Amino acid sequence: MEITVAGACSIRVRGVVQGVGFRPFVYHLARANDLAGWVLNGEEGVEIYVEGAEPGLLAFVRDLKGQPPPAASIAEIEVHRAEPLGLHEFTIRESQRRERPTVRISPDLPVCDACLKELFDPEDRRYWYPYINCTNCGPRYTVVLSLPYDRPNTTMQRWPLDAYCDAEYHDPGNRRFHAQPVACHGCGPGYSLRLSNRIVQESEPSIRDAAQLLNSGSILAVKGLGGYHLACDASNAAAVAALRERKYRKEKPFALMARDLEVARGLIELSAEAERSLTSTARPIVLAPAKTAPSKVAAGVAPDNNDLGVMLPYTPLHHLLFAARAPEALVMTSANRSSEPIAYEDEEALDRLSGIADAFLIGERPIARRVDDSVARAGAFGPVVLRRARGYAPGAVATIPSERPILAVGADLKNAITLVVDGQAFVSQHIGDLGDFQSRRAFQETIQDLISMYEVRPDELLVVHDSHPQYVSTAHALGMGVPRKLAVQHHRAHVASVLAERGEWATQAMGVSFDGTGYGDDGSIWGGEIFVGSVKTGFERVAHLRGAALPGGDAAAQYPVQAASGFLAQLDNDDLPDLTAAPFFFPERYKHALELVHKDVRTFATTSVGRLFDAAAALLGFTREITFEGQAAMWLEQLARSALRADPYPLPYAGDELDFRPLLQSVIRDRLRGRNIGAIARAFQFGLAKGLCDAVVTICGVKHLSAVVLSGGVFQNELLLEDIKYLLEDPALPNDGLRIWTNHVVPPNDGGISLGQAAIAAFAS
Ligand SMILES: [Zn+2]
Ligand SMILES: [Zn+2]
Repeated sequence: MEITVAGACSIRVRGVVQGVGFRPFVYHLARANDLAGWVLNGEEGVEIYVEGAEPGLLAFVRDLKGQPPPAASIAEIEVHRAEPLGLHEFTIRESQRRERPTVRISPDLPVCDACLKELFDPEDRRYWYPYINCTNCGPRYTVVLSLPYDRPNTTMQRWPLDAYCDAEYHDPGNRRFHAQPVACHGCGPGYSLRLSNRIVQESEPSIRDAAQLLNSGSILAVKGLGGYHLACDASNAAAVAALRERKYRKEKPFALMARDLEVARGLIELSAEAERSLTSTARPIVLAPAKTAPSKVAAGVAPDNNDLGVMLPYTPLHHLLFAARAPEALVMTSANRSSEPIAYEDEEALDRLSGIADAFLIGERPIARRVDDSVARAGAFGPVVLRRARGYAPGAVATIPSERPILAVGADLKNAITLVVDGQAFVSQHIGDLGDFQSRRAFQETIQDLISMYEVRPDELLVVHDSHPQYVSTAHALGMGVPRKLAVQHHRAHVASVLAERGEWATQAMGVSFDGTGYGDDGSIWGGEIFVGSVKTGFERVAHLRGAALPGGDAAAQYPVQAASGFLAQLDNDDLPDLTAAPFFFPERYKHALELVHKDVRTFATTSVGRLFDAAAALLGFTREITFEGQAAMWLEQLARSALRADPYPLPYAGDELDFRPLLQSVIRDRLRGRNIGAIARAFQFGLAKGLCDAVVTICGVKHLSAVVLSGGVFQNELLLEDIKYLLEDPALPNDGLRIWTNHVVPPNDGGISLGQAAIAAFAS
């Protein structure tokens, strides 16, 4: 006779466990193991009580840990023994509302295979329904208005379920059990197409007509998950050119959406890692080298760039557009005028995009907040996120030990904010450049949004900001009326962001921050900084790029020749040819800038490696104004990729300075000799890598360090990272056991600053 020992457990699961099919999963698991009890969404995660025979309990706990639903991400499981209550069935209980909600909100998820199958099944009730979703897929962060994540707290609140959806919603055995945004043709929102002279009302004809318009070269505004896209046929040069002209976007590359993986493979060189990223649940835009011929992409998509950014369809609507025979590669760019954030409200979109879009494909479901597409890449040191937004935000990225809630407001370019609540660091979506009015509004909304969602009282907050006194983000932080505030230096925040990702608080590391612009301790413009220290004890600046003058300050970032004037003024006059003559042809602006430098008027001191790149780019022919941030450096990297690695130009490291003078002298010398500019760019980049590696080996040797952190906008330069990796793996170098750490979760650019600010603040008090 079988002897069963009855037992009971109460279990709490924390992490991304709401809105990802976790309760139905628990329900099935309990029933499969003959257990009674209940599951509910509590404020601190999913709470479970189970009772039954011991083997069932053990199997339940094992599978709970080992086989969670694909979109769930478990941070912690607490299991406690309990007294059996003598229950007879397993139930899903209503959500409880108690203390502060530390339950994480799931990022948005791409439509799942099961839903796709139904979407294209003529027998299915949701055949061709553009908002099909289930507990394993669909919108989350872009529809949630407040916690807990239940339908009345989402933008689906105004669509009552019909009998069909209601039955699925309440059936614990159904894939749509408690799927908050569930809907169908009968009860849910739909799409319509607005043209200049008429409106198509039903979803299916709207989408079919939209696909036809794309085929005939039209530009469409398409409402997606986190905002509107502007879409056109990527192979149609005239359409791409028209889009650039109407959008006032001269040269910055456009992202593409490929119909499927096969089409994507035809567009870009996909490494295994890049393909993993492309097909991951975040569905980011993945940057990779463009396939050369035959190109299905008009040259205007990414001028002067060997890389293309490609993403796969992630909403049912995207799949329907391709099924309706839209071109297999579409330009899909955020629907904004240049530098404004993505448009997401219908009236606003119609208003702002009239004159750009020929037609509007409008979905009725409101978007709770603007969330851009994310951008990622497979990097030399592992995956890199260059823009962290849809599919990642607002996920917790790190555990930061802090009793007090911390709000870190980031920097003014590529802004993102971080909120630390109960030790969890939540990083917002990419917000953008706070010089723009719309972005400033989004910045304020996002702060309000996260603070209210996690029910943080402003008076208990520690607010952290950049030490730049003129930053908009700084002014906002200081104006919040919060008693506790802290300024964190820009480049230390970059270094700390990498260590925060890894939870390395006490590790002494060498921190390298090469960047465009950041306010230094001495009020000058830093950006070529080397520190030693830890998050816990702080970072001491031990070395930097040799200083140069920057006429016009931050504005010099617009004009590479203006940056060049200050760096070249450091060279002996005898070494300097007339740069307004061949082969340099610097414009007049250079002379004016040089005058400012010599008179020391409106001139600032800088150690910025970003500006050093600008100077080199100017010497190699990029003498015009840039049209987007970092353009000259990107141009130089692309140029350098055309040549093979050869002898590096010298960048000597001595007396706590990296001396750029021999580096620039070599560029000028070889340019005058008529050397190929690609080869010069390559030797410049390799020289920078070599100089840095010499400094790394020297400093790590002297200070007995083995961890090296690289962060800052310059490290978006993939070729530079490849060279550093190549040099540090050189067996001739005495670099035993050096570990190179870079960002993998937040961007190496200023999008990662807020995480580093929060980490430093947690240990500063
Ligand atoms: Zn689904
Ligand atoms: Zn329905």
